[in-house]
Amino acid sequence: MIKTQFLVILLIAFIGFSCQSDQNIVSIRNIDYDVVIVGGGFSGLTAAYQLRGKNILVLEKEKAIGGRCMSGNWNGFHYPKGTEYIGKPESLMKKIFKRLAVKAEQIPAPTDGVAYNGNFYFSEELLDYLNAEEQKQYNELKQKLELLANNDIEDVIFEEQEYLKEYKKLDQQSVRKWLDKEGYASLIQKFIDIENRGLFGTDNANYSMLFNIPEMAFNLPLVDSIDESDVYSFNQGMFSVVEAFAQQIGNNIITSASVNGVKVNRDKSVDITYLKDGNSHTVTAKTVVMATPAPVTEYIVKNHLSSEVKNTLKNLQYSKYVTINFFTKKRLLHETWSVSCIDEGQVVTLYDVIRPQVSDDYRGKSILSVYMAPENTYDKNFAKQSDQKLLTNAYQTLNKYYPGFENEVVDYDITRFEYAFPVFAPNYSSNVEILTSDKSLRGPIFLAGDYMVYATVDGAFISGDNAAKLVLGYLKQQQ
Ligand SMILES: Cc1cc2nc3c(=O)[nH]c(=O)nc-3n(C[C@H](O)[C@H](O)[C@H](O)COP(=O)(O)OP(=O)(O)OC[C@H]3O[C@@H](n4cnc5c(N)ncnc54)[C@H](O)[C@@H]3O)c2cc1C
Repeated sequence: MIKTQFLVILLIAFIGFSCQSDQNIVSIRNIDYDVVIVGGGFSGLTAAYQLRGKNILVLEKEKAIGGRCMSGNWNGFHYPKGTEYIGKPESLMKKIFKRLAVKAEQIPAPTDGVAYNGNFYFSEELLDYLNAEEQKQYNELKQKLELLANNDIEDVIFEEQEYLKEYKKLDQQSVRKWLDKEGYASLIQKFIDIENRGLFGTDNANYSMLFNIPEMAFNLPLVDSIDESDVYSFNQGMFSVVEAFAQQIGNNIITSASVNGVKVNRDKSVDITYLKDGNSHTVTAKTVVMATPAPVTEYIVKNHLSSEVKNTLKNLQYSKYVTINFFTKKRLLHETWSVSCIDEGQVVTLYDVIRPQVSDDYRGKSILSVYMAPENTYDKNFAKQSDQKLLTNAYQTLNKYYPGFENEVVDYDITRFEYAFPVFAPNYSSNVEILTSDKSLRGPIFLAGDYMVYATVDGAFISGDNAAKLVLGYLKQQQ
């Protein structure tokens, strides 16, 4: 009996000692960085740039930074693998571009066109694929959307998300439901569906009306506005911005570094583990910004999130998407720059990507960018199609417009996006509410990503900037 008591005392003493020694280890833990940013897309890069006065590190899984704004080069021309252009840079983007010394240039008008039943509709013929009654409806819709968009909705989505609940009714319905209720003709609905699939990989039935309004208002082309494109890019496309970010953040970026673990320690420091060249490395930071797609973030940090946040991130769906850049013997599309393809099929948009890089009369070697989206937002197998199947699909559509298109192709580059666009499905405002107010996101872990704001470059910039502000507040509090 005495022997047992002695053993128990010894055991308690041992446990006490080991806890204390663990505490000691914790108190002398080396902190390598103030902030580690996981993900080198535009939200992660914006956070890193805004935090450049701190000791930071960016860890990016791919060989290069840029995420969905990655691009390539062929025959001296830049081409986008994902994002090609932005709207007119305002407030935050404008400020950051100025500091980065990159100049956003308006892309030459006209930008919009329509491809339907083997014909192209450009310039003053832009709406000729619709009959007179449909054209009237289309113009009324444009006016209605502009009114809704000007009704502060854009500001609320991008800047003042706390007011989103005031627009709940619009968020509760899908674009399709709204258009049906308002009685729009099926060809107009089809056009909007193609625009949405082209821009977000999301069909009308799965898109929240509230979140679609700013983009719909912006994208419905009107004959009398075709002189002003209101679309901007850079002399080397989005690559100009990626490069400028890289110059500023430079040595503090590690590429080909895939983060697979984030652990918050008892002293609130964070261990971030990543794989590079087959080796595992761990760095310790005061804070971490997760700027990866929502389900990836959930997978990496799930042990440190509330169940509400965990479920929100895990259940956030992404649409798949594919882009094909066709390198051609001559320039095939020069009347316009961006064309929505209303025909049935997976090809939704065509871009004459070299338009900002050459004169109007240039007809030499060229690049035609073809954007392909699933017909249904949740088609999981879409991006898994073989190269051959994707090419056959694309040729089928393109042959209608350029008979013998294949013979013009010298080479091609296919990019598949597993996490192309977060789906802003009806009731998305409740996701935003959880992700912006939950206590488990007040440090040392912070989130960034377009899914926090809006699925565009603007959204990515704003989410990165928001995360940077929260990190600065947290670090100040910890001093
Ligand atoms: C085809 C296409 C066209 C588009 N066109 C436009 C457009 O014209 N205009 C516009 O405004 N927007 C456009 N968008 C949307 C825009 O690209 C995105 O909203 C924006 O780039 C998102 O930035 P992000 O930083 O949030 O995400 P991402 O760019 O996806 O960045 C996330 C980063 O995290 C990295 N990562 C993932 N897992 C890990 C890990 N385990 N460890 C480390 N790093 C990891 C990824 O490699 C990636 O670099 C387009 C998107 C696509 C797919």
